Amino acid sequence: MVKMYRCRYLAHGLYIHYDCFRHCHLSIHSPNERNNNYIIPYTGPKDKVDWKRVFEIKNKLVKEMREGNIPAFCQGCHWIEEFDENSSEQFNSDLDNYLDMLWIGHSNECNANCIYCFSYQEILEHRTIKGYDIFPLFKELLEKKIYNLEKNPGAHISFAMGEPTILKKFDDIIKIFEKYGNKFFALYTNGIHYSKMTQKVLENPNVEIKVVISLDAGTKEVFKKVKKVDKFNDVCNNIKKYAQAAKKANPIDLGVKYIIIPNINDTKEEIDKWFDLCVNKLGVKYLIADVEEKWFVRQNGEVPEYVKELLRYIRKRSIDAGIEFEFYDRALVLNL
Ligand code: SF4
Repeated sequence: MVKMYRCRYLAHGLYIHYDCFRHCHLSIHSPNERNNNYIIPYTGPKDKVDWKRVFEIKNKLVKEMREGNIPAFCQGCHWIEEFDENSSEQFNSDLDNYLDMLWIGHSNECNANCIYCFSYQEILEHRTIKGYDIFPLFKELLEKKIYNLEKNPGAHISFAMGEPTILKKFDDIIKIFEKYGNKFFALYTNGIHYSKMTQKVLENPNVEIKVVISLDAGTKEVFKKVKKVDKFNDVCNNIKKYAQAAKKANPIDLGVKYIIIPNINDTKEEIDKWFDLCVNKLGVKYLIADVEEKWFVRQNGEVPEYVKELLRYIRKRSIDAGIEFEFYDRALVLNL
């Protein structure tokens, strides 16, 4: 039986970066492989996109991956799926030329300075990237059905760099995709700025938005160490309001995360305070745990037992309390 491999994002994903297109958002997580996870340059509406070229590049990699020749930037990625030549599903549509997953990462403007930020290197090298007008690109993607909601009604928009809710056109971005029938959004926000649009979408049972706020602390002091801004109370107030909004449609559309950062927030006491605050005071119904990415990479993925224990502890407390729970990227690959 010949083993074959695929990744839905290699086939149909597009990460819109500030100076290029990439296959997926994991280019941000793996700085060493960032240059390989690259499709074509793109710096704004003045650049005409050669979509034929984009799909030629994707198709070549999809075919190579199927045969077991996995691109360097994909190696070890948890999104790779395995199938074999006798499987009933052969994923032939992976070679169709359309997109169904967009990550919006054309700007890294933010109102916090999180010590683990994926945009940090970008900020160091380029400072704040204000981003170009992304609307002409969205219009082209939607009008020409390159982003194709007919081929995949589950097509997905994700905001993947900087703080999305402070983008000048944040509301318009949601509106244009909604207008074309897009139902799935993922929003990773620090929760400092309250967004009425986010509240509206959370309340709407016909749109599925996953809003994730990484609080990473149960106290003001630890929050400040992680985010480098004194906004703990604002974030807690906003989480509470978003939780109330989510309750009107789907309470688990709002998730709150704890990223364990060794020597900063790696204690049971802090986790207990975070857990009790989220569950008992703010009304959160979905919790997420992860490990800090840059530290994880420096450790070559060798995570000490006490960190694994803390991750298991968060999961256990969540399950015991009947709270929806998930491990994210780094914690997920630890197979706890
Ligand atoms: S396998 Fe992983 S790194 Fe490769 S395209 Fe898919 S999501 Fe990106």
